[in-house]
Amino acid sequence: MDLSDMVIGIPRYLAYFSFSSLWETYFRDLGFEVRVSPPSNADILDAGVRETVNDACIPIKMFHGHVASLKDSVDCLFIPRLAGAKMNYTVCPKFLGLPDMVRGSLTGLPRIISPRLLMGRDGLKGLRGLYDVGVELTGRRWRVMRALSRAKGALHRGVSLVQREGLEALGYRQPEDPDLTVALVGYPYVLYDGLSSGGILPQLQELGIRVVTPEMVPTPAMRREAKAYPENLFWYYSNRSLWSGMHYMGADRVDGMIHVTAFGCGPDAMVNKLLELESSADSMPFMSVTVDEHTADIGLRTRVEAFVDMLRWQASKRSESR
Ligand code: SF4
Repeated sequence: MDLSDMVIGIPRYLAYFSFSSLWETYFRDLGFEVRVSPPSNADILDAGVRETVNDACIPIKMFHGHVASLKDSVDCLFIPRLAGAKMNYTVCPKFLGLPDMVRGSLTGLPRIISPRLLMGRDGLKGLRGLYDVGVELTGRRWRVMRALSRAKGALHRGVSLVQREGLEALGYRQPEDPDLTVALVGYPYVLYDGLSSGGILPQLQELGIRVVTPEMVPTPAMRREAKAYPENLFWYYSNRSLWSGMHYMGADRVDGMIHVTAFGCGPDAMVNKLLELESSADSMPFMSVTVDEHTADIGLRTRVEAFVDMLRWQASKRSESR
């Protein structure tokens, strides 16, 4: 088969929100057609809920739904075993077992490419699994090295762009003249997936609120928070939620904070408690929102509006007392 005839499917979920530019650039540079599943929708969620074990967290169910939506239209699926991520933190074990969970739950799957990746390692060391896959599929070592290096460059540029330009770089439009800023913290696959987050990000922007997220915190600031906190958690995404929350309570102080957590997520229970305690000690208005497959836009909107009303009331009290 000609390489350009081979279609590699990538589910638009979980670590895709952090590393899509690397994966897509890599396979496209090698000459493959890359097909990404569509943004989450009700059919994807229904398929995920139907096909996944009951006690899985909602993001794992959603991931299965994305795989189901792709599996009949691609030659192989890219589902890496993510063993670690940036700053050398491990990730939730479900990322490691993802290819096995998918194989155990869904039938009629094409070949699954599942290299073990350590995204945080310097240079190309942690991407050895990706290199091996490239060599196996193309047999061309130099081309694979070149593709890997271009892919790393694309990832680096993407991360810097979001840190520099904020949510606009991710396709969101901040309000023109916001009176308040809210930190929205949580995992990227919950915050930026319209269905998983119940649409909270656009809801806040509709209300005229400037929104900041963990992805906008510069890497040196994240490192400072990591060092400042007495103990860190094991997991990369959980640490990012915590450190960004601490950052927005400190240096880049905001008017309020919303932590969006996924139903059924063990690590998030700890992050939520820590953020709640820290924000209470810091007198930072804080709200926690747990999303699941039944989260309705309207119910969430009511809570978000009430939180924003409270922030505006507090802001008016502050300006009256000056
Ligand atoms: S970190 Fe939580 S939400 Fe993410 S995969 Fe693990 S259990 Fe699920």
